[in-house]
Amino acid sequence: MNPARAKNLLLCGALVAAVLIGLAVPLSHFLQGVSSQRADSAGAARAQAQAVARLVASHPETWSAHADLLREVLRTGAATDAPPRMESRRLLAPDGRTIVDTGTWPAAPRLAQVAVVEVDGRVVARVEHMVGLRPLIRGSVPFALAGLAAAVLVFTLLRRLLLHAVQSALTALKAEVQRAEAALAEKAAIEQELRRQSTQERLLEALAAASNTARTPGEAMSQCLRQLCEYTGWQIGHAALVEFDGEHAVTRLDFWHRPAGVRYDRFIEENGRHRHDVANGNFVGRVLRTGAPVWIAELSGSQGATRAAQFASIGVRTGMAFPILRGRDPIGFFEFLSEAALEPDAELTALVQRASGYVGSVAERVEAADQIRRLNQDLERRVAERTAHSERAGALLAARGRDAAVLGEMTGVLQVAEHLEEAGRLVARYLPVALHGTLAGALYLMRASRDSLERLSAWGDTAFPASFPPAHCWGMRRGQPHGSLDGAVPLECAHVAATDAPGGTLCVPLIAQGESLGLLEIVYIEPGDADTRAERLAAAKRVSEQLSLALANVRLRESLREQSIRDPLTGLHNRRYLEESLSRELARSARDGQPLAVFMLDVDHFKRYNDAHGHDAGDAALRELGRELRKCARGSDIVCRYGGEEFVVVLVDADGAAAGAWSERLMQNVRALEVRLGNRVLPPITVSMGLALFPQHADDPAALLHAADEALYEAKRDGRDRLRVVRVQPGTLSVPEPAAA
Ligand code: GH3
Ligand code: MG
Ligand code: MG
Repeated sequence: MNPARAKNLLLCGALVAAVLIGLAVPLSHFLQGVSSQRADSAGAARAQAQAVARLVASHPETWSAHADLLREVLRTGAATDAPPRMESRRLLAPDGRTIVDTGTWPAAPRLAQVAVVEVDGRVVARVEHMVGLRPLIRGSVPFALAGLAAAVLVFTLLRRLLLHAVQSALTALKAEVQRAEAALAEKAAIEQELRRQSTQERLLEALAAASNTARTPGEAMSQCLRQLCEYTGWQIGHAALVEFDGEHAVTRLDFWHRPAGVRYDRFIEENGRHRHDVANGNFVGRVLRTGAPVWIAELSGSQGATRAAQFASIGVRTGMAFPILRGRDPIGFFEFLSEAALEPDAELTALVQRASGYVGSVAERVEAADQIRRLNQDLERRVAERTAHSERAGALLAARGRDAAVLGEMTGVLQVAEHLEEAGRLVARYLPVALHGTLAGALYLMRASRDSLERLSAWGDTAFPASFPPAHCWGMRRGQPHGSLDGAVPLECAHVAATDAPGGTLCVPLIAQGESLGLLEIVYIEPGDADTRAERLAAAKRVSEQLSLALANVRLRESLREQSIRDPLTGLHNRRYLEESLSRELARSARDGQPLAVFMLDVDHFKRYNDAHGHDAGDAALRELGRELRKCARGSDIVCRYGGEEFVVVLVDADGAAAGAWSERLMQNVRALEVRLGNRVLPPITVSMGLALFPQHADDPAALLHAADEALYEAKRDGRDRLRVVRVQPGTLSVPEPAAA
């Protein structure tokens, strides 16, 4: 609504209110007066009517005779106080004729009250009161004046209040309108900003998406470049990754966004070959040098603009360049070129910096991915190595188990080896199986004199010396295994100088119960890595420990056995040994169809010799005789002291002739023996000999020995110092009764 109209309406309302208030006072006074007059009149009229009725009823003549009385009745209750009321009272006949009246007929306005006079239920007259209201009106004037004054006052007050209220409402409205306008303006500005931001955000999202999905920095660059150029409207965009070559940067990978056209193609081709001067350049060179963005308003006039001619050729004027950083290091740049002369734009700067940040992060990500790939490859390689290692360890364990079984078997076999030679042969059979990767090996035993190691056995295709001094072996000297390839400097022992095995040698001293028994020398096929060599060493140690104990046992057994089968005085085998070995030799000769000769010897008159020179002299003579017998016999022959001064010699593969010749030579040598006891030279001794031949004379040990003994007896009988051969009687092969043996 129009404010003026509203104001008028409000004023009208105020006026009406004031008038109503002004009228209320006199009106109420007036109406009150009227009401009280009406009540008075009505009451008086009724009373008078009753009085008249009574009068008329008692005195019917009253109507004519007592007019005065009636008048008097009418006058009762008339007001006598000032101001007097203008009033007229009449008694009227039913036909309206005035019977009596009193008072003055009032001027209008008037108030009339009528009461009927009833006699015996019949209306005989009416009492009429007529009261003038003018005095009441006059009496109300002061009240009207007071009401007017109140109305004026009320109107003035209301007017003032309303005007004030309207004024402040208008002011508030105006302020509200202003605020609304301001809010609208602000909203519009915000919407504009939002629109701008959403465009930027879309761009940034696109940039981020481009960099996130890009697999290479190059891909990220080309995507970002396109987005930026479309957003900014710069004609030419260029993104490049560079490689630094001294003071120059060479483009490694680049992308262009530019209008189509031959001149642009030429420009880009020339730019591709451009080397940016990082030390002195003022545009891209400076960006790569400082890592900060550069704006150049006039490229053609710029100091250090080495591409000025190229820029001029495509008509660009303004350029800006931004670094692509990986961490803090520039790895490339963004370059934007425009034909218009543009001013630096903070928004664009921020955007391109974001874009270059994205490209840098992609470069970092790609590099990190590369690194992860390399790490993964390394990990896979290590896992493979580890797997191979554990497989090797498993195989090693299995091999170790097999080796342990072989070793156990070897130890078991060595337990029953009769002598060291046999043990040596067994070792040569088992060790190539128990020790892996060996080309050859040899087992040496320390001589009792401890000055030489003698080869007991060997296996493989390598020549090992038969013996060498322990000092030639580093292993023996150091008392621990020595591998020729194990140290930092390969160190070969003197005794293996002849071998040129590529796998090197390992010399393991054999030590049992603190005593050095000998040496195990192992030659390997291949050098092997450190792990392999360590495993070889461990295996060789295990073998050597077992072997040392087994060999010590064999040696102990051998010496015990030797002691049991040897005669301590002469060093010859004893009778027990003869009984064991003669049947074996006989069986072999029978199998091979070879002859065999058995001699029984007895020293002549030895009792006398003892008696004459003493028992020690006798012992010395027996020792000398034993030595002579050993000297004359071959290794395969059996020479033993049969008992006292009797000896048995078994010549294998000897027939009668050979045996005869041998006995002649022996007897001759015995006669020439020089027996010494201290400084004394004792007289020589002689022996008598009996010979029995296999197969002519007998074919079992007891019979042969018995026959030889018979022959010996004959030699004694025939004068001693001679040989007698078993005489064969026709039909009897001189096989004596066992009881006679
Ligand atoms: P014959 O020529 O008949 O064989 O005469 P003999 O004296 O050699 O024979 P006899 O059997 O009567 O004597 C053997 C002697 O040999 C008796 C014994 O004193 C001696 N003798 C046996 N064993 C040893 C020994 O180990 N050392 C020494 N010194 N003498 C021994
Ligand atoms: Mg005798
Ligand atoms: Mg004798």
